Amino acid sequence: MTNRTDYCGTLTTADVGRSVTVCGWVSKRREHGEHLAFVDLRDHTGIVQCVVDKARDLRSEYVLAITGIVRERPDDTINAALATGAIEIGDATVEVLSVAEPPPFQIDSRVDVDETIRIRHRYLDLRNKRMQSNLRTRAKVNSAIRNGMESEGFVEVETPMLIASTPEGARDFVVPSRLKPGSFYALPQSPQLFKQLCMVGGIDRYFQIARCMRDEDLRADRQFEFSQLDMEMSFADGDDVRAAVSEAVALATEAVTGSRPTEFPEMSWHDAMNRFGSDKPDVRFAMELAELTDLFSDTGFKAFQAPCIKGICMKGAADELGRNKLDNLTDAAKRWGAKGLVWLKVGEDGEVTSPVAKFMSESEIAGVLERLGAETGDVCFLVADGWRKTVHILGLLRIELGRPAVTEGGLNFLWVVDFPLFEDVDEAGNPVPAHHPFTMPHADDVELLAAAGSDPQRLLDVRSQAYDLVLNGWELGSGSVRIHRGDIQQQIFDLLGISEEEAQRKFGFLLDAFRFGAPPHAGFAFGIDRLVALLCGEENIREVIAFPKTQSGGDPLTNAPTPIDDAQLDELGLRVLPQPE
Ligand code: ASP
Repeated sequence: MTNRTDYCGTLTTADVGRSVTVCGWVSKRREHGEHLAFVDLRDHTGIVQCVVDKARDLRSEYVLAITGIVRERPDDTINAALATGAIEIGDATVEVLSVAEPPPFQIDSRVDVDETIRIRHRYLDLRNKRMQSNLRTRAKVNSAIRNGMESEGFVEVETPMLIASTPEGARDFVVPSRLKPGSFYALPQSPQLFKQLCMVGGIDRYFQIARCMRDEDLRADRQFEFSQLDMEMSFADGDDVRAAVSEAVALATEAVTGSRPTEFPEMSWHDAMNRFGSDKPDVRFAMELAELTDLFSDTGFKAFQAPCIKGICMKGAADELGRNKLDNLTDAAKRWGAKGLVWLKVGEDGEVTSPVAKFMSESEIAGVLERLGAETGDVCFLVADGWRKTVHILGLLRIELGRPAVTEGGLNFLWVVDFPLFEDVDEAGNPVPAHHPFTMPHADDVELLAAAGSDPQRLLDVRSQAYDLVLNGWELGSGSVRIHRGDIQQQIFDLLGISEEEAQRKFGFLLDAFRFGAPPHAGFAFGIDRLVALLCGEENIREVIAFPKTQSGGDPLTNAPTPIDDAQLDELGLRVLPQPE
């Protein structure tokens, strides 16, 4: 084999005079006079220019070993944009290790390449600098997390992939059983139940960089398969978990950016919703929701005779937001569930233009401007409805109008705590849990839980000991203090309408285990793909996954998913029904 002495991208003027051998792929070839050609050779560290014999047939993506002497480039050919731009490898001898067909797209520039083609030839896409850097960043993050967790006394335990269903609420991927035809394993949506069993088993501090599978529609921040830092600790509460996770995240961030984030502030779910209209507030920018309800307590404006009125102000947007754009925003607000969207533009001398100005009194308008701090050139948006709907709509509008680009505004970690225990009430009148059913109610609300009986309105006020970690408006992950007491667990199952038979069937093994001495415990899991994407300044987690699926859930590289043959179906006791046209 060739004796590589150096990587392409690492050679500098300090190496001038050395005889080196570099290996890699031909990035570019340019003719140079009568006898010579320049070949840019690429490996994962970068590119180096080599001067070769023109007669050699060296095409794009050929794999070469080039041996030669490092020399300074003539002044007029120095390329300051390239790390190796001041040198070249001269007197080069070339060994062709592999020839290559012309690639279906330019490796070194990613513009205008159809994503399906890129993923079909992902091995070529991986040669690109951006993918190289993203995957190496990902590896750094994994390694920093692992080191961090281990140094805090966490033990890595692998949990099974073929399991019974987990209670994360998404659709399962299932695997048919050959030995028990007609029965199915589920692939884990998370190691939730196993990590809790580890606590009963005395592991004390568990972690795992766990692959999880959820059959949900794919989005920019969601793939079928993803990796979580999954952790659980015994004799610990939410504060302990948040401290341990913050430490791991800080280490991972430091490993990538070189600076350690020190701020992991906490905000209650109620404050997050009230101030930012979101349970994953992007706090890189202000544009907070202002309370306006009291200003309209005696209003004659029908639309504002509502339980909650709030507004946001976009600074200096009056010129940019013409009538068309304002109509589009109103339509969007209606799609999000608003009855309407009121806007007010502040002109010269504080003069206000709005289609509904005539329905509002002077003092109401003055009050709105004052609360929102609105001045000449600003645009105010107001929504009136129930509290949940009002904050939800303004929260979406705030993001639509104000969200900075992914690479801007730094890294703003935020713990959102005290989530409600129930997120809604379903048609059958049962409260819908906001997290999985093992989430401990807030210590101060246990009595309220008992007193609320099955009154949905009061139940919605019960807080839980669940918390999320948010980064720049992305939910990185969530966790909670778990219920380890049978009586509270029973109360929750009763409220959720989960019968004893169902509880036994779904989680019987966990409930059984809890009868044999369960320590108080709490845990968390966060998405590594999302953290890495944000650290890499990527909008889509596909860019930090070596072999992702496309938006439609397929893998154009391997063609998965594919039909299986009849013999395999027979063995599994399966028949595939004809698909409807
Ligand atoms: N199992 C949860 C999830 O994957 C996280 C946790 O509660 O630890 O979302």
